[in-house]
Amino acid sequence: MDNKMTTRRNFIKSAGLLTAAAALTNPADIFARSAGTSAKKRGSNKIELSWMPFDAKLNHPFTIANFTRTTTPIVLTQITWNGYTGYGEASMPPYLGENQASVMAFLKRVDLSQFDSPFRIQDIMIYLDSLASNNTAAKASIDIALHDLVGKVMGQPWWKIWGFDSETTPDTSFTIGLASEEKVKEKTREASLYNVIKVKLGRDEATDKMMINTIRSVTDAIICIDANQGWKDKHYALDMIHWLNERNVNMIEQPMSKYQLDETAWLTERSPLPIIADEACQRLTDVQHLKGAYHGINIKLMKCTGMREAREMISLAKALHMRIMIGCMTETSCAISAAAQLAPETEWADLDGNLLISNDQFDGMKIVNGKITLSDKPGIGITKI
Ligand code: MG
Repeated sequence: MDNKMTTRRNFIKSAGLLTAAAALTNPADIFARSAGTSAKKRGSNKIELSWMPFDAKLNHPFTIANFTRTTTPIVLTQITWNGYTGYGEASMPPYLGENQASVMAFLKRVDLSQFDSPFRIQDIMIYLDSLASNNTAAKASIDIALHDLVGKVMGQPWWKIWGFDSETTPDTSFTIGLASEEKVKEKTREASLYNVIKVKLGRDEATDKMMINTIRSVTDAIICIDANQGWKDKHYALDMIHWLNERNVNMIEQPMSKYQLDETAWLTERSPLPIIADEACQRLTDVQHLKGAYHGINIKLMKCTGMREAREMISLAKALHMRIMIGCMTETSCAISAAAQLAPETEWADLDGNLLISNDQFDGMKIVNGKITLSDKPGIGITKI
């Protein structure tokens, strides 16, 4: 047993996660053992939630408009029921206001034993929203684990349960953060397996243009831009977008502050490239409000409480004739594979979070020739490494 496993076991023990203890004392398990069936297979008929903190190590320090970091805090969750196990994850980039302590404090308040079946995802998510208004990543960690569990019980992956066509998944983009010219060239070469490069802009004009010119000196691949609210003036933003439009760029994510809705609407009306809301679009209730100000929305499980609400956001965005992107935080293959289940319904996908870390805990969605591919593995399509 390696140290990581020891730590994990000790954590689970010391955190009083109840799973093991409950399984030993659960009458169903005692019955299962005395009846000679496998307790493991039969398991507890109570829905049990457990979790552990985990630091995802980044291959490269990651810089966006405002700061740099080398790890991303994550909480991994697990839900067991009747011998099945579903995995979930909360990933917390610091700017969203959650952290490992806040997620674990939230999870501690959650009592899933009041629900008789994990299939009651709708009721469970309403219950989670009733506990606190924010904590969206914490909620997503439960939503994802429930979907994984329920999909496994049904023996099917969610893209099939939802009736999607696995052939219609887009290419994923691979993100290149702000860095020195040499570093950008190196990262661009590393990204040669991807057909779409996502570039983080939003600093001064010279830096932004250096980024694009440097990438263009290495590759002709399509570029998606994420300005992360970095452009302050709508005229400047429009000039930049025209400049980018001449350089095989195909969309612009969150060019200006999420609070500058009127300015963004002005920009969207004139932009030759689609303008997509990211920071401005968190949950289902935001979507309608953004109609007209943006061409589309970037859905992320950590912002919207998970797969269930993401699915609803896709339906609403389609009804409003808005374009759809699915994105991610720095995540393990757990949350990435969960998001990938929705990818057939999206125009752009930015599901590279697992490719940016060196200590993934799961084997899941694969990128083949730059394209997101979905497997027949049940649930969210992952196995624990
Ligand atoms: Mg973004």
